[in-house]
Amino acid sequence: MQLNDKSALITGAGSGIGAAIARAFAREGAKVCVADIDFEAAQRVVDELGLPPSSAVAVRIDVTSEGEVERGVDAASQALGGIDILVSNAGVQHLDAIADVTFDNWRRIISIHLDGGFLMTRACLRHMRAQQRGGTVLLMGSVHAKEASLQKGPYVAAKHGLLGLCRVVAKEGADYGVRANLICPGYVRTPLVESQIPVLARERGITEEAVVREVMLGTTVDGEFTTVEDIARVAVFLAAFPTNALTGQSVVVSHGWHMA
Ligand code: NAD
Repeated sequence: MQLNDKSALITGAGSGIGAAIARAFAREGAKVCVADIDFEAAQRVVDELGLPPSSAVAVRIDVTSEGEVERGVDAASQALGGIDILVSNAGVQHLDAIADVTFDNWRRIISIHLDGGFLMTRACLRHMRAQQRGGTVLLMGSVHAKEASLQKGPYVAAKHGLLGLCRVVAKEGADYGVRANLICPGYVRTPLVESQIPVLARERGITEEAVVREVMLGTTVDGEFTTVEDIARVAVFLAAFPTNALTGQSVVVSHGWHMA
């Protein structure tokens, strides 16, 4: 049990990568707050864990709302006895070339990833600083925190921004024992990725199989998707790591798509 009695809050945990991290953290003994803008989805994940309310709670948080973030983090802290680990994971994708993307869509993607990462981090840091027992901030980046791809301008810009946020939190958090790291997955077959396949096929005039084979997995070492379990394993490792030797880092988990 690598996370025994730690309290963890995971955003966007009603689906995909976040749900897998909540399950993995609970298996490692953590108390978990499953937060999502979709409360029913968050509650389903909590029900599936089968833990008492003192060990697992669902909370609705729209990470772009300062008020919801503040109230949600306070509620999670109250329910679980503090906040030791934040996984700021909520995210969406939008496909459009920079020349075509509307300002509304630009702002929506930047807001969910960057405002959301900032608001969640600030609220949890305040709890961690007051608790005086250290903590861990994990931000969900992407290979797109380091690489560009066609039609993903707002997403790529936001993910690059999270790398900067992570590094600042690592420097400032050191004063009160908080580490910060960025997890950078390659393609993981979640709803976020499934929804891109038909759009890319249509726009590039290729089959859906070709989108997966060439666009998504063409530069991996083995043509395989990264899995939600792969990302959850890395999240457990980073959350459980005991010293400041590992802070301010970005860990790429992508079957060799990006090597750095
Ligand atoms: P997903 O669609 O399965 O889950 C995303 C979750 O975020 C959903 O439950 C959704 O309701 C929630 N969400 C959306 N907007 C929100 C908001 N404003 N407030 C709170 N919750 C909100 O997607 P996923 O693939 O599991 O993505 C999770 C994270 O991983 C995202 O940050 C994404 O950018 C990142 N990521 C995913 C991949 C991939 O290939 N799937 C690769 C790299 C990075």
